[in-house]
Amino acid sequence: MKVTVIGYWHAFPEAGEAASGYLIEEGNFRVLIDCGSGVISQLQQYSDLEDIDAVIISHYHNDHIGDIGAFHYFRLLQPVISDKPQQPVTIYGHKEDPAGFEHLSFKNTITTEAYTADSPLEAGPFTFTFFKTIHPVPCYAMKIQTETAVLFYSADTAFSTELAHAASGADLLIAESTAYKGEDGAAFGHMTSEEAGQMAGLAKVPHLLLTHLPHFGDHEQMIGEAKNECPDTKVEKASSGWSKTLS
Ligand SMILES: [Zn+2]
Repeated sequence: MKVTVIGYWHAFPEAGEAASGYLIEEGNFRVLIDCGSGVISQLQQYSDLEDIDAVIISHYHNDHIGDIGAFHYFRLLQPVISDKPQQPVTIYGHKEDPAGFEHLSFKNTITTEAYTADSPLEAGPFTFTFFKTIHPVPCYAMKIQTETAVLFYSADTAFSTELAHAASGADLLIAESTAYKGEDGAAFGHMTSEEAGQMAGLAKVPHLLLTHLPHFGDHEQMIGEAKNECPDTKVEKASSGWSKTLS
């Protein structure tokens, strides 16, 4: 499973970058996880838009869904502007916010399908299992498995031991780190760097990638703050185009 960071900013993208978006690939199957502002522009550096097979949305905050309309418009124009035949695409989201789920649809350009925490979702070679997070709106973390690799994505959440245990066994944990150690991330439904490190420590994952990073302070400081909580884990921070193949 190849993982590529398309965007990693909290709230809005800084110049030339994107809010939340992650590309995962196995063989020729490509899934975009979250589609925040700037993602559709940045994604084209790593994949043709025609080659995206599925999109999974964790929740309906704008920094995770702001560019879904751009993807709809690409799909609308694709038959006119692209030589590649149009393949079906499914956008998956939860239905706990019916208006948010409805917003995933646009004419007949894509199919939408609801996921729940009750049953795993199969999409190509990937199996997704969803876990409710602690956030002001319904939001789901996800464990993503292939035959050879496991990825866990926290999505947006305050610290939760249940989520940390769910992440156990992952080869890579992508965890949000919206606040610095000492701040009150939980008040906003987010984690600090220290809490992201605690999550990695409890889960005993070999590799932690801090993401959903804030627009202030020194992100390098966050790596140290997290690492103190999980000394046996490799800790990095997300950047545009950061990539790793899990196996
Ligand atoms: Zn959010």
